[in-house]
Amino acid sequence: KVLCATGVVAGIITFFWKDDFNPESLSGARVLVTGASAGIGEQIAYHYARFGAEMVLTARREAVLQKVMEKCLTLGAKKVFYIPADMSSPSEPEKVVQFAVQKLGGLDYLVLNHIGTNRFQEWTGDVEYTRWLMQVNFLSYVALATAALPTLEKNRGALVVVSSLTGRMPTPFTTSYSATKFALDGFFSSLRHELIMQKRDVSVTLCILGLIDTDSALEYTRGKVHISASPAPEAALAIVRGGAARAHEIFYPRWLQQLCRLWALFPSSGNHVLRTFYNYSSP
Ligand code: NDP
Repeated sequence: KVLCATGVVAGIITFFWKDDFNPESLSGARVLVTGASAGIGEQIAYHYARFGAEMVLTARREAVLQKVMEKCLTLGAKKVFYIPADMSSPSEPEKVVQFAVQKLGGLDYLVLNHIGTNRFQEWTGDVEYTRWLMQVNFLSYVALATAALPTLEKNRGALVVVSSLTGRMPTPFTTSYSATKFALDGFFSSLRHELIMQKRDVSVTLCILGLIDTDSALEYTRGKVHISASPAPEAALAIVRGGAARAHEIFYPRWLQQLCRLWALFPSSGNHVLRTFYNYSSP
């Protein structure tokens, strides 16, 4: 009964909860978005554009970045530049931040969103793939944030880190991916403590997302999960709002927050139920 009542109260608070989002604060804001050529990152770029931000977009594919840049300009972005970069190369993060600072004269937001190809399959023992994914999904985030911290600190800026439910609650078929997302939580939540203790005014927003209907996610989960995907534009807006409100964490869809709390209370039965959402046929 107590649990049920807690759930109802939490649901009501969530329903009526308003964040401190002020859309005008994003007009003229200087933003660097990674993984901006497709999926959620592309939608993040369009939201910032509608709010009148100045942006640098990055990903690997130049032709696609060019198209996203053109659309951002039609949507209302004040300035847009792009820089193609492969985040599996350790020298790229610093180059990208330098480019953004030079083009925009500083940064107010760094949105870390890109990921390397996710296999969504059982563990096959490919240690090299895990090493590569750690570089793309985790170490490049650390390097980008480190290079951007001085300019973010000067501008009372914000670090926005896109993570996943599987970075809070391990799920099947995501061994390496889940490891990179847990690493992000550990690093950036620890960094947040230090920034607060040092009174350095840079916020850190960790974004915990459920399944989102991007082409890549629908492709790699097809036939493997019984979970419906939420819309990428809404996920992107939740991320942009959370960063602007300087929230420590955002969950999208919002009910994921209650799910994580329930799972922490009842991990064993939670894991049992979780496995029923995944298709597994033994060899
Ligand atoms: P997509 O696969 O749709 O997009 C990935 C982006 O990263 C693309 O812009 C891609 O562009 C870029 N990218 C890929 N490899 C590299 C690389 N080596 N170097 C630099 N950029 C690269 O991903 P989603 O939009 O689905 O996911 C975005 C974020 O949301 C990720 O952090 C993901 O973990 C998180 N998330 C997504 C969920 C989902 O269901 N979609 C669920 C939970 C979290 P290009 O190919 O041009 O390099």
